[in-house]
Amino acid sequence: MQTSPLTNQPPRPIVIAHRGACGYLPEHSFPAKAYAHAVGADYLEQDVVLTRDDVPVVFHDLILEEVTDVKTIYPSRRRADGHWYLIDFSYAELQELSLHDRIDPISGAPTWPQRFGEHLPLRIHSLAEELAFVRGLNRATGRHAGVYTEVKSPGWHRSEGKDLSPLVLGVLGDFGYRSASDDVWLQCFDAAELLRIRDSLGSRLRRVQLIGENDWQESTTDYEAIRSPQGLATVAGYADGIGPWIPQIATWRADHGAAHITPLVADAHAVGLAVHAYTLRTDQLPDHATGPDQVHAALFNVAKIDGLFSDFPDVTLRFLQNR
Ligand code: CA
Repeated sequence: MQTSPLTNQPPRPIVIAHRGACGYLPEHSFPAKAYAHAVGADYLEQDVVLTRDDVPVVFHDLILEEVTDVKTIYPSRRRADGHWYLIDFSYAELQELSLHDRIDPISGAPTWPQRFGEHLPLRIHSLAEELAFVRGLNRATGRHAGVYTEVKSPGWHRSEGKDLSPLVLGVLGDFGYRSASDDVWLQCFDAAELLRIRDSLGSRLRRVQLIGENDWQESTTDYEAIRSPQGLATVAGYADGIGPWIPQIATWRADHGAAHITPLVADAHAVGLAVHAYTLRTDQLPDHATGPDQVHAALFNVAKIDGLFSDFPDVTLRFLQNR
C-alpha cells in the first residue's frame, strides 16, 4: 500500500488500468490509456514485446492476429504454425496495422461482445511513445499516474535471439524511471529474469513476481512452489510484491454467497510483499461471483490486497471511494 505524496490522501489500495482502460477501448491503444488516466487510475499498465528491429512496443501478445488486422494487411507473413508473430515485423511495418478489441482469430467473434467493437485506425506504439504519452497526460492534468511495465516472455525472446529486459530498462531510464522511489513497478512471470534484472542488470526499480498456474507454461518458474510460505519468503528476497490472479486469492461456490479466501495474501504480507491481483472484468467475473463489487469486497475488504489490475478502473475506483 502506498501513500500519495502529491495529494496526501490516506493510503488506499492502488488501481492499475489493465492494458489501459481496455474494458472500454482497444487494449494498449492511446485512447485506452487516455481514458484510464482521465478516470483516475493510479497506474497505467504496459506489456512490452520486441519488434524485429529491436524496438520495445506496448503489446500484450506474442502474436498479432487477435487484436490487429494483420491477416488483411500482411496475409502472407504467417509462420508455418499459422501465427503472425510481432517479432517478425519491423516497427515501421507494425505502423500499417490497426488495433481492435480482442477477437477469436478463427471465427472473428469478439471475446467480450459488449465492448467498443469498432475498427478504427488505432496504431501500435513503442514503449518510449507510451511513456511520453503518460508524461504529457500527467503534465496537462496535474494529476500524476505511475506506470506498471511488464517484461513479456523474456525466455521466448531469448529463444528468438533477442534480449528484452535491458532494452525495457533503458527506455524506462530515459524517462527518469530508475530507482525504487520512482513511480514504476516492473512485473514479470519469470523469476529468473527478475533476479537477473536486479543482479546482472543492476535495476533498482520495484519488482513484482507475477504468479500464474504451471499449466499455462508462461515460464519455467514453479508457481505452485512460489505460492507456499517458503516460496513467498524466497520471492521477498528479490521482489517487492506479487501479482497473483484472482482465483488464487478468492473463489466462489454456486451454492454459497461468501468468498472462500486463501491464505496467499496474509502469507505474502507476513514476509513484506505487496499483493496486486489481476484482473477485474465486469463482463467476465470469476466463476459463481454475482457482481464486480462482490469481487471487490472480497479482495479489498476481506483478503486485503494492496492493488488490483482492472479492465474497468473507474468501477474499481468507485468501489474504493465508496467503501
Ligand atoms: Ca500484463
